[in-house]
Amino acid sequence: MSREQAQIIINEIENRGFQAYLVGGCVRDLLLGRIPEDWDIASSARPEQIMEIFGDKAYPTGLKHGTVTVKTDREAFEITTFRTEGSYSDGRHPDAVTFARTMEEDLSRRDFTVNAMAIDSAGRLVDPYDGAGDLARRLIRCVGEPERRFTEDALRILRGLRFASVLHFSIEKSTRQAIQTHAHLLQRIASERILAEMNKLLCGDGCREVLLAYPDVLGVFIPELLPCVGFDQMNIHHCYDVYTHTAYATAAAEPNPILRWTMLLHDIGKVNTFTIDSAGQGHFYGHPRVSADMAREICARLRMRRKDREDIVTLIEWHDRDIPVTEKGIGSAVLQLGEENFRRLLAVKRADNLAQAPEYRWVMRKIDLGEKLLYEMLQKKRCILLKDLEVDGNDLMALGYSGREIGQTLQRLLRSVIAGEIENQREKLLAYLRMK
Ligand code: ATP
Ligand code: MG
Repeated sequence: MSREQAQIIINEIENRGFQAYLVGGCVRDLLLGRIPEDWDIASSARPEQIMEIFGDKAYPTGLKHGTVTVKTDREAFEITTFRTEGSYSDGRHPDAVTFARTMEEDLSRRDFTVNAMAIDSAGRLVDPYDGAGDLARRLIRCVGEPERRFTEDALRILRGLRFASVLHFSIEKSTRQAIQTHAHLLQRIASERILAEMNKLLCGDGCREVLLAYPDVLGVFIPELLPCVGFDQMNIHHCYDVYTHTAYATAAAEPNPILRWTMLLHDIGKVNTFTIDSAGQGHFYGHPRVSADMAREICARLRMRRKDREDIVTLIEWHDRDIPVTEKGIGSAVLQLGEENFRRLLAVKRADNLAQAPEYRWVMRKIDLGEKLLYEMLQKKRCILLKDLEVDGNDLMALGYSGREIGQTLQRLLRSVIAGEIENQREKLLAYLRMK
């Protein structure tokens, strides 16, 4: 178990006459009864001393920050020398990292009270900022003076929202006010760091509340969201404005980054496509396309991986399409999207529907039926993907096809099989091809 392993490492450091503590996220998670993701250790020993204590089990992974990684059989532990951080002239990086003498000094540089606790080798809690009290009150509160802490490092603004979402906490008043005042400083922060925090924020239990409370913070790096805030849809399907619908839909999707990003951006083009008919109903013709184009740009700007970006854009493009619940309808969608994205599309449609007016919840039934039909088609081995087709490129070459003809013919064959015009049986398919 990790906790025991960490204890062994801490004891080893103490036996050499240094101090060592569990610190940060793992202490917070232990007090919450959650399983920590990683176990960070803080120590009075210098990096080179840690290297010496652990010999070939130690790796100098972050010497610049005073961090050494120690690997045991199965796990890796980061051991960081007590630090203080000097001044921040750029709002991103401390000008210099200096080592500190005590655990308390190190805790004073940390971002939030719930992250600024340590546990010593005897299991005693070191908690100078009442992080345990804030855990009980379910509050995110800065260590020290919020204005200063956010000016030093603007990423902390988004980290505050991230922890509020993941822990489903509120943000304490003076911290909240400083977040609102200094949100614009996030402009200085590299996209990669924004993206990493956003992926966690979007997948948190409290995502909806955070999105609803802090549109202006997200608007610093996704300004396209701002016109959605309060935008009345004037449409019977909708009981919320575009942004509120977006927040509900995002939180209604399973917590994985692709689905949650898709929901966050799925209607982002709505404002640009808005029209009102003679009966006073609002419409957003063509909004999936427009939203998908905007999402492509936003995801690229945030330096998302190409594959994730493409999946998100495709799902947004498809989110409002009506897919007939027939073997042909589903077969054709799976053919175009692939099985994984088709399943994601069902999840997107569910989340979208859950955030619409309750009178339209019956649409869920149709989505359920679509999923059931997909299941049956897979069970019956009704071919739905090219790889399931009983003939392949070699068969076509043997019949004299060549080049692009091969792929095109296979696609055409697959469409015919999906449409029920031919059976997916080798002999029948070959006979059909020979007839042509
Ligand atoms: P997670 O469970 O997501 O890993 P965590 O609390 O461990 O959460 P990390 O980003 O791994 O978060 O950071 C480890 C610790 O380092 C934090 O708990 C906090 O004490 C400190 N920390 C991290 N980033 C900052 C920052 N930008 N400013 C101040 N302290 C920070
Ligand atoms: Mg961590």
